Amino acid sequence: MKNCPQCGQERVAETYKCPACEVFYSQLDELLYEEQQRLEAKTFKAHLRRIWAAEAKQQALRDALHTGWRETPWQTQVTLVTVFAFIFVLVFGVLTL
Ligand SMILES: [Zn+2]
Repeated sequence: MKNCPQCGQERVAETYKCPACEVFYSQLDELLYEEQQRLEAKTFKAHLRRIWAAEAKQQALRDALHTGWRETPWQTQVTLVTVFAFIFVLVFGVLTL
């Protein structure tokens, strides 16, 4: 069993940091932790939480949508634009009947 390099306390399984002094057990643990945080920050739930916590919710929502759109692959963007255009034409067609 590995111990904390700072305080020597025994390692808690499946954690990257020592719970007592918040020190990473190793450099690899630090990298794994950062990777986990990075992946977590990209989830839909994390986006929602950030929007909810923001002071200016509208601005935060706009930023999130903007970032989300930029990170969407172009194939998906083309599909979305096509679907929206189709819906628009459909609604417009119905309204002008
Ligand atoms: Zn410690």
